[in-house]
Amino acid sequence: MAVQREQLEADVLIVGAGPAGLSCALHLAGLIKKHNEAGAKPELSAENIYVLEKGREIGAHQLSGAIMNPRALRELVPDFEKSAPLDTPVTDSAALLFTQNSSFRFPITPPPFRNKGNYVVSLSKIAKWLGGLVESAGVNLFKEFGGAELVYESGAVAGVITEDKGLDRNGKPKDNYTPGYELRAKVTVLAEGTLGSLTKKLVAEKKLDNINPQSYGIGIKELWEVQPGRVEPGYVAHTLGWPVSTDMYGGGWIYGLSNNRLSIGLVIALEYADPRFDPHAAFQKWKTHPHVKKILEAGKLVRYGAKSLPYGGWYAMPRNTVDGALIIGDSGSFLDSQRLKGIHLAMKSGMLAAETIFEALKSGDYTCETLGSFQQRVEQSYVRDEMWKVRNFHQSFQHGMLPGFVHSAFQQITGGRGLIDPMRAEAGYRHYRKRSAAAPAPNNEDRFKGDGKLTFDRLTDVYHSGTRHNDDQPCHLHILDPNICVTKCVEEYGNPCQYFCPAAVYEMAKESSGAMKLKINFPNCVHCKTCDIADPYQVIDWVVPEGGGGPNYEGM
Ligand SMILES: Cc1cc2nc3c(=O)[nH]c(=O)nc-3n(C[C@H](O)[C@H](O)[C@H](O)COP(=O)(O)OP(=O)(O)OC[C@H]3O[C@@H](n4cnc5c(N)ncnc54)[C@H](O)[C@@H]3O)c2cc1C
Repeated sequence: MAVQREQLEADVLIVGAGPAGLSCALHLAGLIKKHNEAGAKPELSAENIYVLEKGREIGAHQLSGAIMNPRALRELVPDFEKSAPLDTPVTDSAALLFTQNSSFRFPITPPPFRNKGNYVVSLSKIAKWLGGLVESAGVNLFKEFGGAELVYESGAVAGVITEDKGLDRNGKPKDNYTPGYELRAKVTVLAEGTLGSLTKKLVAEKKLDNINPQSYGIGIKELWEVQPGRVEPGYVAHTLGWPVSTDMYGGGWIYGLSNNRLSIGLVIALEYADPRFDPHAAFQKWKTHPHVKKILEAGKLVRYGAKSLPYGGWYAMPRNTVDGALIIGDSGSFLDSQRLKGIHLAMKSGMLAAETIFEALKSGDYTCETLGSFQQRVEQSYVRDEMWKVRNFHQSFQHGMLPGFVHSAFQQITGGRGLIDPMRAEAGYRHYRKRSAAAPAPNNEDRFKGDGKLTFDRLTDVYHSGTRHNDDQPCHLHILDPNICVTKCVEEYGNPCQYFCPAAVYEMAKESSGAMKLKINFPNCVHCKTCDIADPYQVIDWVVPEGGGGPNYEGM
């Protein structure tokens, strides 16, 4: 039976209230205000801008380091320093090389690790603050609503259907069942962050891929309260080396926040060979390094989280406009793959999208004819300058750190060109070695447990992420071919999902018949999207759960 959906009409519908989506909304509301004040026609209204956010609060799903380059924010909110929750300016930037028992600080910090002029922030707090400005500008911000499906009209994107609420685990309506809304818009902006679930479909349907597939990393983060004096606020350090082996790409971070708080984490490229590599365990191991251990001693874990990030850069950027829609922020690959900085580029891409949409609203043309000028705006802005210089950077590390350093040295002196331009990349999951060549599978007893003080198992960490989903709802992790999990995947890769998931969602369990079955503990899901990215057969499809579910990264 066809579902009767309530329809709402907007001029502009923005999916995702991260830095990209919120900057787009705020800038567009500002342009509309000036336009109306000047008495220009047609009269426009910020109330006709809708923003959807799946998190239970604005900022609840923001997880970042975070060092923020304030360049875009300064353009968006010129007096941001007066009211933005900036935490602290960067005072010292260090690059550290770790061996198992020692650390070495580079006497001169290499340029990509220098952060003078930037701020250490909680991105969750920044998003919450921006959300407040967006609402004050008259925009309609709907939290706890996920965009579940795109609506098309004559081949053009015409809006989004939000997720159905109140279905039980078998997909049957409960007493509180409310079908998702059909939100129609002249322009839909996809600002869903890393591997957006709608963006993924749009890119596939309209064949928007660039020459390289997107490359991703996973970042695992903990927020700690440490003893006074351990790390000065504003001190930022990036670590290279142990425990990340040289055939992998990754490193750690230590950022000093105010009030003896510390942001620590490890980012690993999701393109490693061993299908049983466990990024969460690697991060826990990193904390046992004498340098880190000393800092954390007698401290306390406050929050945990994990999220993927797209670092394919310029050559992995999908075509970012179609009739009726634009793709911005992480969803559109707007991230500096060398510095792993995406906040300011997400914001700027949102602002450039706003300027494009403003022209479209004035002319009444929402096709690629008008929206396509977004790409020109990007090309003429500092976004292009910054991303073009590092266009081949990440690809050069796809086969390990050492070849990467050689290539990146040539890129440095040739404005990003290097020895091969464009340098091609392959999807990360293609890097897995088959089981026969990989390390033997650990049994569950060998899985990382942690000491409960310095190091933690995944479930303890998930508890600290504030993650919550109503477990009587359909599982939002769709396995497109469950048979593969218990046949080919066991044989060939030993079910990597059990290892790469930083929230212990996937588990191979024995049924009473003795047969193995993939158990999915979806209420634990922290929305990092690693499973959708790293599954070797690409059979895991991450779709939005009931709105309001997921982590609570308040203060992260
Ligand atoms: C571990 C880690 C460390 C990082 N460190 C830094 C750093 O130090 N400095 C820096 O500049 N950058 C850093 N980044 C990158 C930076 O966080 C991102 O580039 C930036 O957050 C991108 O902004 P965005 O708005 O595109 O996406 P996001 O911030 O991810 O926001 C997207 C929003 O959309 C919502 N959403 C997604 N899908 C839907 C849907 N279908 N319906 C409704 N809502 C939806 C999400 O809940 C989320 O709130 C880091 C990233 C990670 C993962």
